[in-house]
Amino acid sequence: MAPSPPHHARASVDKISAVPDTPQLGMNNTPLGQTSEPNYRTRSFDPLTLKQKYLEERDKRLLSHGSKGQYRPVSGTLAHYADDPWLREKTEREPINEQCEALIIGGGYGGELVAIKMIQAGVTDIRIVEKAGDFGGTWYWNRYPGAQCDVESYIYMPLCEEIGYMPSEKYAHAEELLAHAQRLGRHFGLYEKAIFQTEVQSLHWDAATTRWIAKTNRGDRIRARFVVPVTGLLHRPKMPGIPGIETFQGHSFHSSRWDYDYTGGNQKGNLSRLANKRVGIIGTGPTAVQIVPHLAKWAKDLYVFQRTPSSVAERNNTLTDPEWYSSLHPGWQKQRMENFQAILSGGRPDVDLVADGLTDLFLRLLPRTSTDTELDQEEQAAKRQMENFKDMEEIRARIDRIVHDATTAESLKPYYHRLCKRACFHDDYLPAFNRPNVHLIDTNGAGVAFITPSGVIVGEQSFELDCIVFASGFEMGTAWSQRSGIEIHGAQAGQTISSKWGEGASTFHGWTTRGFPNCFFVSSFQAAITVNFVHITHEQAVHLAYVVSTCRKRGIQTVQPTATAEDTWTEEIVSKGKLQSDFQRECTPGVVHNEKTPIEVAARNATYGGGSQAFMNILRRWREDDRLEGLDVEYSVLG
Ligand code: NDP
Repeated sequence: MAPSPPHHARASVDKISAVPDTPQLGMNNTPLGQTSEPNYRTRSFDPLTLKQKYLEERDKRLLSHGSKGQYRPVSGTLAHYADDPWLREKTEREPINEQCEALIIGGGYGGELVAIKMIQAGVTDIRIVEKAGDFGGTWYWNRYPGAQCDVESYIYMPLCEEIGYMPSEKYAHAEELLAHAQRLGRHFGLYEKAIFQTEVQSLHWDAATTRWIAKTNRGDRIRARFVVPVTGLLHRPKMPGIPGIETFQGHSFHSSRWDYDYTGGNQKGNLSRLANKRVGIIGTGPTAVQIVPHLAKWAKDLYVFQRTPSSVAERNNTLTDPEWYSSLHPGWQKQRMENFQAILSGGRPDVDLVADGLTDLFLRLLPRTSTDTELDQEEQAAKRQMENFKDMEEIRARIDRIVHDATTAESLKPYYHRLCKRACFHDDYLPAFNRPNVHLIDTNGAGVAFITPSGVIVGEQSFELDCIVFASGFEMGTAWSQRSGIEIHGAQAGQTISSKWGEGASTFHGWTTRGFPNCFFVSSFQAAITVNFVHITHEQAVHLAYVVSTCRKRGIQTVQPTATAEDTWTEEIVSKGKLQSDFQRECTPGVVHNEKTPIEVAARNATYGGGSQAFMNILRRWREDDRLEGLDVEYSVLG
């Protein structure tokens, strides 16, 4: 996520009577005033009471989230939840023994971007290894009904402009996003460089040959001079650590491994085989918000088990107007991505090109340098705090307007600042709760207590179910090796990435760590993450392509950060991260804030606290400097 706004000071106003109206969004340029200063409806609230309520709601959840076993990895008895349902045929083949210049691990948009940028920089001897049966990453796995990107397609779908592709909608659906990954594969000749259905399990540095040796689950040994793990965030499911989960006798699956044989239908819906089924969904995060309307429409009965409600605002998706699209000037995609990022990083460009719910949200909730400079820090914080309250009051008012049953409406209301969790946008989620077959089971922050052979138990009540859908998320905030499934054995005897980063990451600019030469990460740790994940990944791809091609041009054998450069960057991450910790402390727990993992570890695994735009500028300036500053460089004997 983009940086969180500081709002630790107490609100200085006792009562206000203002709630923002959700603005109408256009596809094209919107002057900033239209989205940043919405009209206000009259509805009064007491900020101090609200603040107290937020803290109480957080505290309830700290109990359930605090327990170490609240999630379980998909291993052992739960391993089958990660099986690939999309694979038409498992390829049988002999183990591969080969060498390449650069090994890229992962074939999602990120891995593809790294490969494309490397090829464009002249590094063509590359190999891509991907565990799935095709390119696509997140969009290979997530094919649940209603799956859709929540970032505008024109800035999210990589290299649209470069390859002349027009996304069909402002927020494209998953099928189109997957097809785009395949299109990139064909367009840039990536298929001939890829090995699918193959999972890299370990990397070993071989000092004698200064090569990495990758070992896979197919018995392969791939030797590479450079290795770039681009393992992404949303592919390795995690399961809720609910006692009895293995005992359930009905049908169950994780949202990212949807079983259409069981439900019928496809990503557009039509889940006709659920007509006589009692279905439960566990989790009410961004994924569930997209799934619930479809389950609601087709299941005999749908039970939505909620631990924390999501904030859900209007989506207002539109088809792309081809005339508008063809009127865009060369360079539009980069400009649009940067404009979006500037707004999400607290800047105030003249125009809001994307002009949607996200830019509107960040324009209102982040401090704006140009307008807030005359206020002192405490006043700024109070102003932000009040904006946050007003924003969430509108989210809650929207629920009252849409959901007919007052008790259900009350349960669906989130009480936390909107940026504590991923903000959701959907037009059919809340109306789904008006259907007589849809039952919201509010666990009041505690979560589902037990799973039995025939259903689930919440408090004193048990619910008989035929099917459970686990919309319980992915390994995002966990240790790097757990998240990626790869162990890396570095240059120092006995040192692995797990042991080095056991108490939190330590890197130079997020992409390189001492003791692991020529291993370049594309990850969020000590780097940046932004709502438009593809933007930052694109920048990292450009960066790594520069590093690899520069090494080749200059006859450099290995690079790794100096101890000083790494320590300095890590200190910067930790100190800048501290500025955000008051906000994080008040947040309801969740993946965005690492599920309240120990603060020291979280601080080291944090993203750059100066914001993703500033981070990208740091990388860009470092490249422009062209001195590989901060790196220990060893030249090849031939070089
Ligand atoms: P999340 O990790 O966001 O949500 C997991 C859900 O499971 C939460 O609602 C959590 O509750 C709930 N949960 C966990 N344990 C229990 C329990 N014991 N009982 C009841 N509920 C429980 O997963 P998602 O798959 O929804 O989202 C993952 C990420 O995917 C998001 O961060 C989002 O960015 C991304 N995403 C992106 C999309 C896009 O368009 N780009 C679309 C969909 C997802 P609690 O909230 O209390 O923790």
